[in-house]
Amino acid sequence: ASVNGNLNNVINSRLPKKIQGLLLLIGQKAEKEGYKAYAIGGFARDLILGLQNFDIDIVVENNAIEFAEKLVKYLGGKLKTFPQFGTATLTLKDGNKIDFATARMEFYPFPAAMPEVEETTIKHDLYRRDFTINTLGFKLNSPVFGDFLDFFNGKVDLEKGIIRVLYNLSFVEDPTRILRAIRFESRYGFTIEEQTLGFLTNALENNMLAQVKPKRILEELKLILSEKNGLLSMNRSIELGILEGIFGEISNKKLLIRALEETKVHINLYKKKEIKVDNEFLIYVQVILSFCNEAKQKEFLTGLQLDKSQLEDFDFFFNNYQETLQSLKNPRYFSASEIVETLQGYKKESMIVLLALSFNSTVHKRILLYVKEFSNIDIEVTGEDLKKMGLQPGPVFSDIIKKLRKEKIDNNLSSKEEELLWVRSEYLSQGQKEDF
Ligand code: ATP
Repeated sequence: ASVNGNLNNVINSRLPKKIQGLLLLIGQKAEKEGYKAYAIGGFARDLILGLQNFDIDIVVENNAIEFAEKLVKYLGGKLKTFPQFGTATLTLKDGNKIDFATARMEFYPFPAAMPEVEETTIKHDLYRRDFTINTLGFKLNSPVFGDFLDFFNGKVDLEKGIIRVLYNLSFVEDPTRILRAIRFESRYGFTIEEQTLGFLTNALENNMLAQVKPKRILEELKLILSEKNGLLSMNRSIELGILEGIFGEISNKKLLIRALEETKVHINLYKKKEIKVDNEFLIYVQVILSFCNEAKQKEFLTGLQLDKSQLEDFDFFFNNYQETLQSLKNPRYFSASEIVETLQGYKKESMIVLLALSFNSTVHKRILLYVKEFSNIDIEVTGEDLKKMGLQPGPVFSDIIKKLRKEKIDNNLSSKEEELLWVRSEYLSQGQKEDF
């Protein structure tokens, strides 16, 4: 169906009946209680694109919280309000969520040429948004339900696949839009419009991204990396100098792209083997930070708000990884236990980073060997067994266990019996051996 002045056909044919019912109901209630309600943003955009997106965003004139409070009495569910922002989130009994925001008229530079007709408030609200494709919406109030809002030619841009800002200073005003632009670009296979790209580059040249708190940047990066085409955005961000705008100088951009791709490959391999990988986003950040200078590493580590054990792992990694990679590069023979010794301090997620950073094939093979084989080797002999053999418990036990493990890794002790035999020959006195 094509989109015209009214979206009723599209709403009818593309949205589940339940959502349609909900929207109609909201529209009736708004009309009755004297509010104006609009469905807008990503929900409207994806509806027109024919993509599934049931995160409903509603803008309300004049008071979203008041309206949502009336609605919840009617629909049930749980309402959470955020008075400082004039917003509310309604979670329905079936788990569906609806976000309500009060239409905002702000001090944004509205072009003089734009005639101020009706709908000033909603128009202003939509004007402060990031891109034209996100300014689409439709009315919910019952008499005009489905009436299409397209004040800034968003529909044409959507059809042409263009990301376009609404005003020149958009990226200066909110530099995180730079990251949103490349996210939408990769997600939909769209292109940033030429002039918009100029504004974007300009903002980068003026170092706008450096003004944004690492925490905000990391949130946007996380969104990018959780997209299916996240790596495409990352490549684009490297190509446009966005990543450098965030992280400062990057030691080798081509290699970083490869490392990010390798990271994805290895995360997927782990998953395929049903090995749980904690916090994929952190792994990618760890890879990126490996290409940055120490000051940026520190700044972003703080922004990541890691818990104590994560912080320890990160610290360990950044203090040691270069030396580890360097030492594994040595072409001399490495025994299995030496490889274990070199790598056992890293946690599983950091092994992925090391794999992604090991461009040298000797190093890569050694790490893979560790991951696939050596790291899984555990001895079967326990402290109880040692006691039964007549050995006195004490620090020596951990020493025995450590050496036994080394022996097992290097010489393939292949059963518990062989392990016991080894301990016996190494640690028992002649007399004990005879008793045993
Ligand atoms: P997604 O499909 O990723 O959820 P979305 O467009 O719904 O995309 P949200 O981040 O949920 O994105 O934002 C909702 C709406 O709020 C967007 O459609 C956009 O119009 C507006 N918006 C979000 N972030 C910004 C921003 N930084 N600047 C301007 N408008 C924004």
